[in-house]
Amino acid sequence: MSTTTTRSRAAELIGTLDTGLFINGAWVPAESAATFTVENPATGEIIATVADGGPADAQKAIQAAANAQKKWGKTAPRERSEILRRAYDLIMERQDDLALIMTTEMGKPLAEAKGEVAYGAEFFRWFSEEAVRIGGDHTTTGDGKNRILVTREPVGPCVLVTPWNFPLAMGTRKIGPAIAAGCTMVFKPAELTPLTSLALVNILVEAGLPAGVLNVVTTSNAGSVVEPWMDSGLARKISFTGSTEVGKILLAQASRNVMRSSMELGGNAPFIVCEDADLDRAVTGAVAAKMRNMGEACTAANRMYVHRSIADEFARRLGEAMSALTVGNGADDGVQVGPLVEAKALEKVEELVADALERGATVITGGGRPDGPGYFYQPTVLSGVSPDSAMMDTEIFGPVAPVVPFDNDDDALRLANNTPWGLVGYLFTQDIDRALRLGAELEVGMVGLNTGIVSNPAAPFGGVKQSGLGREGGRVGIDEFLEYKYMSIPVVG
Ligand code: NAP
Repeated sequence: MSTTTTRSRAAELIGTLDTGLFINGAWVPAESAATFTVENPATGEIIATVADGGPADAQKAIQAAANAQKKWGKTAPRERSEILRRAYDLIMERQDDLALIMTTEMGKPLAEAKGEVAYGAEFFRWFSEEAVRIGGDHTTTGDGKNRILVTREPVGPCVLVTPWNFPLAMGTRKIGPAIAAGCTMVFKPAELTPLTSLALVNILVEAGLPAGVLNVVTTSNAGSVVEPWMDSGLARKISFTGSTEVGKILLAQASRNVMRSSMELGGNAPFIVCEDADLDRAVTGAVAAKMRNMGEACTAANRMYVHRSIADEFARRLGEAMSALTVGNGADDGVQVGPLVEAKALEKVEELVADALERGATVITGGGRPDGPGYFYQPTVLSGVSPDSAMMDTEIFGPVAPVVPFDNDDDALRLANNTPWGLVGYLFTQDIDRALRLGAELEVGMVGLNTGIVSNPAAPFGGVKQSGLGREGGRVGIDEFLEYKYMSIPVVG
């Protein structure tokens, strides 16, 4: 498609979206009638106006979820499974349209947006398969006097809160297992990217999701909606993806009603390249781990630790690969790097780079914003970054790769683990013993061995330390939405 056709198609698609709140199966305006606007970060243009929910809307939404829970929790697993499977099919039929909406509100290149749509849809397919495999257990006590019958029940109404960086997949990763387990939901997507979620709602309705099971409140004031949910006494679980800072606020709120809590929080991923690594693979892996989503990913390689004997060569080759990437409006053909999501994000990256340069870093490539509108930052590689630079201890959330040399494996591990976060670590080596030893010692929930991508719906995604609690996806993903119930039955006769 030409650039003009793509942009008019995006406007047409966004123009047909329902932009109200979705409560008890109906689209309604906010009780205050307030709205907020959504911007295209590549152009700064306003692309939509959506309902701005508040506490009164939050109350209606959680009440609808609570009212629907009993009946929904008793639906046949096959029925829930088939809703998810139909929704998977519908998402994939509309992959191009959903990707275009996502690119227009969030900025990522269309090819990446299409990849996210497929990745996000896969959570529905995966959990459609899990819905009919919720097992239990039956054993006998050690003394033989009692039977133990273990069943599994839906946790109950869930609060789902998601970030802007993966507007579809962060939602489906929670909605999929909640539907499979038989939980109802109230869902607040990010203020910056509500449109993809609104498109998803209509797909789930078309797939047969009953009224009240999923209720969505968009808002420009997250706390005014989420806190009433947490304090309602009706919600039994919070599943949150976002920053560690907000995760801690929600954990404190969850304690008030002792709610089950799943937290997918921030990362500060180390990317370790040993001296025996295949350098081509390491550079390709580094570009993938750094540049997916313009670096705006919790899994983004934040700190590149490279053995001193190859650090300069690695930085040079990474610089070549990064400078060859095409930066531009993600909706345009051939673009590989879109804008950052908003002005604040761009300013943060600029400040982190300025700080690193003041502390002695050298720019191998990039290091600034290109001319023109939008929140763009050049793909950047820095070498000689001082360990006390702010970017070594902060999620950069932008296309900047700091390269730091290390001298031996223990040194690499010490640097890698010297952080309160522990989501993912990347490791490049061709020595299997070393890989297993370093992989075991890394304080993270996930390890990418000779690869820059770990996310997969079939894998248990999540972190340790301040990167979170619980896992999403994989065989354990549904557990987060289920409770155990055990019945003790005396053996008679
Ligand atoms: P964020 O500021 O924590 O926001 C995440 C969500 O929380 C948004 O919907 C936000 O609403 C909402 N929120 C903000 N303040 C709140 C409050 N006081 N009470 C209730 N909800 C509140 O994070 P972000 O900037 O959107 O996303 C980036 C962060 O997410 C990074 O730290 C990244 O590492 C993390 N992340 C983690 C994973 C993972 O799986 N571990 C995946 C993706 C992203 P508004 O949009 O209205 O502010």
